[in-house]
Amino acid sequence: MKHIDTARFCKVGTSLAGSLTQMDLPRLAAEVLPDTGFTVAWIATGVSPDLLDLSLRATVQMRCQRCLDAMAESIDVSYRFQFVKDEATAQAQDEASDEVDTLVHARHFDLGELIEDEMLMALPFVSLHEVCPEAGALSFVPRADKPNPFAVLKDLKS
Ligand SMILES: [Zn+2]
Repeated sequence: MKHIDTARFCKVGTSLAGSLTQMDLPRLAAEVLPDTGFTVAWIATGVSPDLLDLSLRATVQMRCQRCLDAMAESIDVSYRFQFVKDEATAQAQDEASDEVDTLVHARHFDLGELIEDEMLMALPFVSLHEVCPEAGALSFVPRADKPNPFAVLKDLKS
């Protein structure tokens, strides 16, 4: 898994990109349809000495809670994190504002774990197709036996 020195990473404005799959993210794999693969594309960018931007993009297979069929859920999210020196400062910051997520600077920060945490948060609580595909839909739908409107018109004229 990818580890970064957060202070150095942010200070020099480093940008890193990569991708992780179901093999790297077992907790996420447990939340999506079993035995379906996915790839999470990620970009992490140091913005200032204490700020990190993280963008995630993935398509995962979920189960629609209405028809119970599989459905593709697209995730495309960006987060900004503020790094502070210790846990006490992080707690104080979190209580003061919920606009930015606070993390503690670390020499070997586990970027993969953060990516997995944020992907889990980004998953919809309930997955639903916009329009569920009809199970065993008929290719031929019989029309209602209505009289031809032109025939009706002809009858009126005569
Ligand atoms: Zn559905």
